Amino acid sequence: MTGDAIVWFRNDLRLHDNVTLTEAIRRSGKVYPIYCFDPRHFADTELDLPKTGAHRAQFLLQSLQDLRDNLQKIGSDLIIRRGLPEKIIPQLVEELAVTRVFASKEVTAEELSVEKKLEDNLVSQGIELDLIWQSTLLHVDDIPWPINNVPDIFSQFRREAEKITQVRNALPAPTSLNSVEAVSTDAIPTVDELGLSDIPTDSRSVLDFQGGETTGLARLHEYFWERDCLKNYKETRNGMLGADYSSKFSAWLANGSLSPRKVYEEVKRYEKERVKNKSTYWLVFELLWRDYFRFITKKYGNSIFQFGGIQEASPDLRNDIALFHKWKSGETGVPFIDANMREINATGFMSNRGRQNVASFLVKDLKVNWTWGASFFETMLIDYDVCSNWVNWNYVAGVGNDPRENRYFNIMSQAQRYDSQGEYVRHWIPELSDIPGKKVHYPTEIPHPELADMGITIGEDYPKPLVAFSKWLY
Ligand SMILES: Cc1cc2nc3c(=O)[nH]c(=O)nc-3n(C[C@H](O)[C@H](O)[C@H](O)COP(=O)(O)OP(=O)(O)OC[C@H]3O[C@@H](n4cnc5c(N)ncnc54)[C@H](O)[C@@H]3O)c2cc1C
Repeated sequence: MTGDAIVWFRNDLRLHDNVTLTEAIRRSGKVYPIYCFDPRHFADTELDLPKTGAHRAQFLLQSLQDLRDNLQKIGSDLIIRRGLPEKIIPQLVEELAVTRVFASKEVTAEELSVEKKLEDNLVSQGIELDLIWQSTLLHVDDIPWPINNVPDIFSQFRREAEKITQVRNALPAPTSLNSVEAVSTDAIPTVDELGLSDIPTDSRSVLDFQGGETTGLARLHEYFWERDCLKNYKETRNGMLGADYSSKFSAWLANGSLSPRKVYEEVKRYEKERVKNKSTYWLVFELLWRDYFRFITKKYGNSIFQFGGIQEASPDLRNDIALFHKWKSGETGVPFIDANMREINATGFMSNRGRQNVASFLVKDLKVNWTWGASFFETMLIDYDVCSNWVNWNYVAGVGNDPRENRYFNIMSQAQRYDSQGEYVRHWIPELSDIPGKKVHYPTEIPHPELADMGITIGEDYPKPLVAFSKWLY
């Protein structure tokens, strides 16, 4: 007789295209869905900041509420527990007399260590742990290399993978599941109960991010079908203001409330029913970057978190805490940087353009330890994805697997190119005001070409530039 099973939800908080859940249903009798609040995810980092900040915590709680609602609609529920999964799950195995545990496979050290401990504990109970790959668009088993041979140049990876690898079909959501009456389900904690303080929604945010697969699928529908933005994505994707310059799918993709294969399926439908062009291709191209970072992480393991990075280099950077604090709180005196940092602090989101610039500025201009920047992003980002974050930072710091990705961003020309009218900096730094057509100077008389060209002046109360960059002055 088929035994009952636990499905341990991790970064796969959805019913649609959930391979782990589907497999568990196919291979088991009763299925018990569970989510564990792991205290290690909320502990302080070396920067004395919570590993999961309030923006992402809020998004996670909303995602779990939605998952619970959706499970209840098909007759089940979500069992919530607080504690170490490797302890809690074996206890539930005992309590519920299940014979199998299913979970999605992760690739990074902390997650692997939990998987290993859980597996060891389950083995001593005679129970199997089935770890199932599902976070990427391309399945790891379908790419044309064993993981250790994944090319170190993205374009090579993309070209060969595009030629050879088929995207597997997205799976439908289950329509019914047995009830979990046998066990207490427990309430989802509040942000407060997780030891964090609630952050009010900021009306300047690009989007009112609400977690959950319902809102993730709604955003997909809105961006592609209602607002018809996909056909222009390649042209708009470097924007910084507003909901529609890019998809904003990242937060839902990161905790798995949206499946990349579902996004792909909708791109293909859009190409059939509306238009197929460079933009529709480019969204898939970006999803391949996301996959690539996961495969590269699997290939190189823990080195992505080390100061020397994947290259095991010795970057010439310093642990200057004062400079770092100015950077993280948006008080460097460089408006293009500060505006972006104020956005991430207020909303948990920052555009890709912004991320590249603030990261480059921290590392290449301020010469501060890049791992601090990556760790700060980990705390703040609503869409934090361990692989995308740390490998992108490896690239910016010039310690990544692809030496060609070591680019310097000239902040001044970036600001002039991507915020030529100064709308973005004014949006986030109210201290700046317009004096159209006038060249204005800092109180220190340092000419500030970026802002002067935009017709913006800086009041006395705005921070003075931290570092008088020679390139800044002319
Ligand atoms: C220093 C740095 C840190 C980053 N940290 C993260 C992170 O923690 N989580 C995260 O999801 N992205 C991260 N990114 C990548 C990128 O900035 C975001 O994915 C993107 O801004 C999210 O907005 P969007 O969903 O509107 O993207 P879109 O432009 O609409 O792209 C669609 C999807 O493609 C993927 N994608 C796009 N660009 C990248 C990229 N450069 N790397 C990996 N995936 C990409 C994302 O899943 C995104 O949702 C980081 C980039 C940098 C430079």
